[in-house]
Amino acid sequence: MSSVGQKRTRTTPKLNRACLLCGVVQSMTQFRNEGCPNCESVLHYQDNEDVIRECTSPTFEGLVAMNGSSKSWVSRWLRIENFVSGFYAVRIVGKLPDDIRNDLNAQGISYRPRDGSVQD
Ligand SMILES: [Zn+2]
Repeated sequence: MSSVGQKRTRTTPKLNRACLLCGVVQSMTQFRNEGCPNCESVLHYQDNEDVIRECTSPTFEGLVAMNGSSKSWVSRWLRIENFVSGFYAVRIVGKLPDDIRNDLNAQGISYRPRDGSVQD
């Protein structure tokens, strides 16, 4: 595993890709074997490395642990609720491809880019 592009990010060797939709951070292997614990029903990562490459990013910042408490300040800050326990990235470099965003829109899911380009 190369660490190019991961300067200033806090990662461990295993947690090296962040889901662009929910921000969960997992290994490539986890995404391939188990999919995203939050988004699998809409993004279908399992056994689909193309989707993993398009919809996850190896470049992210601010890894935080979520313990499953949906009321925690972290989940409010990250705008995630009822998500599984795990590690989440605060800021992710990258955006979902347009066709996937259109798919999500069609399903009533609004995607908020997590790269800092959208301000409240
Ligand atoms: Zn996800």
